[in-house]
Amino acid sequence: MSFEDTYTGLDNIWYEFSSDGKGNVELWANADGYEHLARYFLKLARGRKQSGYHSHHAREFGGEHDYEAELTIGIADAPQEHTTSAASKPIHSRAMLSSAERTTTQPGYVNRNRQTVVRATGLPGNDHLQRIYVLKCGDCGAEYGANGSDIFQRKCPSCQGGADGLPC
Ligand SMILES: [Zn+2]
Repeated sequence: MSFEDTYTGLDNIWYEFSSDGKGNVELWANADGYEHLARYFLKLARGRKQSGYHSHHAREFGGEHDYEAELTIGIADAPQEHTTSAASKPIHSRAMLSSAERTTTQPGYVNRNRQTVVRATGLPGNDHLQRIYVLKCGDCGAEYGANGSDIFQRKCPSCQGGADGLPC
């Protein structure tokens, strides 16, 4: 997709995206700046780009600021499928974890592969925000460590071909 024609006939494009430490975001632009941005966004709307497509821009166009940070504009099917915005991802995973953890990390919980939660260790796991739990296999009796978020689908590393247990 070419974006060159989004500049056609516009000789005074200026826009500036800025943010402060609190996360407030501002966009200021002149008429040509909005014309350019509107054409750009329409291309994203109608251009049939794949989810995950994104581009990097200077935060100010046509002005004098030289920001170190950049403006990233991307396409995603749904909020949790952001591929470029690290800032928004943890919010979604935290929300999903808290509902999942309430049920699957209780000692005594048994998942569909007959793996039982023995106890929490408090040790950090190897996935985002995860803690290690000790699981016990109902088939062979093996005990091993697993991330809290993996418990619901965990398979035994000894007899079910599951991933290696985490140290616990
Ligand atoms: Zn087993």
